[in-house]
Amino acid sequence: MKSSEQLFKRAQELIPGGVNSPVRAFRSVGGAPFFTQSAKGAHLTTADGAELIDFVCTWGPAIHGHNDPDIRAAIATALENGTSFGTPNPYEVTMAELLVDIVPSVEKVRMCNSGTEATMSAIRLARGYTGRSKIIKFAGCYHGHVDSLLVKAGSGALTLGNPDSAGIPASFAAETIVLDYNDPEAVQACFAQQGDEIAAIIVEPYPANCGLILPDDGYLELLRELCTSNGSVLIFDEVMTGFRLALGGVQERIGITPDLTALGKIIGGGLPVGAFGGKAEIMDHLAPLGPVYQAGTLSGNPLAMAAGIAALQKLKDSNPYPLFETMGAQIREALLATAKEKGLALQVPQVGSMFGLFFSEAPVRNYQDATSSQTQHFNTLFKYALDHGVYLPPSAYETCFICTAHNGTDVEQAVEVLVAGIRSI
Ligand code: PMP
Repeated sequence: MKSSEQLFKRAQELIPGGVNSPVRAFRSVGGAPFFTQSAKGAHLTTADGAELIDFVCTWGPAIHGHNDPDIRAAIATALENGTSFGTPNPYEVTMAELLVDIVPSVEKVRMCNSGTEATMSAIRLARGYTGRSKIIKFAGCYHGHVDSLLVKAGSGALTLGNPDSAGIPASFAAETIVLDYNDPEAVQACFAQQGDEIAAIIVEPYPANCGLILPDDGYLELLRELCTSNGSVLIFDEVMTGFRLALGGVQERIGITPDLTALGKIIGGGLPVGAFGGKAEIMDHLAPLGPVYQAGTLSGNPLAMAAGIAALQKLKDSNPYPLFETMGAQIREALLATAKEKGLALQVPQVGSMFGLFFSEAPVRNYQDATSSQTQHFNTLFKYALDHGVYLPPSAYETCFICTAHNGTDVEQAVEVLVAGIRSI
């Protein structure tokens, strides 16, 4: 078997940066990435034979842990009948029924193949529906690598220092208004000046691509009110938070209903899937019913649908959300207590199975606060954790994920390592 070092050397000759998605290259934390040979439950086994407790969980989808037996069985059953048909298949109807049942805003839904496709299509639909061009996004929110959304973007774009990507025409970016998250005056002023030009607000309701940021009281309610009163479409990007912060996502958790919702990650059970859905009146503007074109050769793929249906059904049956709250709080409290004892400024925003680590004096409310945090402390902690068998996301601007396969021993071991890592800073 080839080691990670050998594989990465070869990969760099063949693949730009040696990776198929930039954050995987470990550029900001330093060092070379490991290659994963296999994964089971909450653990990764690297090509070098190391076993790691995983808090990345394939960037969110593995809410039941890796290689879940029920999801594997569902894929195996679907595989008996073929891999792709290019016609409607029964799984798509079951998936749509589940999504309409679970996600409060979704009356109709269209499947696609990634979170990027979901947000791109939701934006096009909002523009087609309103006949307007401008959209509002928030600094530090990441909605996939859609041209008009790679403006002050989070995630890998921010990690690698290019939140405004090259290759995006200024005329495209000009249609995107970027505001600070948690700044009510900014969004009020924007609507007062050009409310009749704004097709949509797209927002990660709990931004999780700039570290994890929580909304101030009343902020998301304000976005809802402004969209309603100005005839703009409110799009929640719940690619990350959907089925994770509650079965029905943030919208269920806080009781605010957007007009459209972008979904991804968990609904594919680890296979490539996205979806967008919302009010039937808006969704019916999509082709073949309406003038907004959107399509996909592999959209509604039977294997991906079977995996996603199994993942969602298991969440419905098991209701892991109270346990996530307990596990998340256990990790948060241990890390905060250690930082306090050491006199180190640390914030650990945490909601259920998601938590972030900001080495900052005050709670992080926006992009500016996040990018002012001591990222070198995070990098030190990342390296310490990896050397001691715990895999955190390889960037201070990402969010850690807990899955149902993290058992008490995993959490205790990981806390022990992270506590020692904080002491080592
Ligand atoms: N929206 C959000 C909130 C995301 O976190 C991501 C990916 N991390 C995307 C959209 C894009 O999804 P994908 O990588 O599947 O294209």
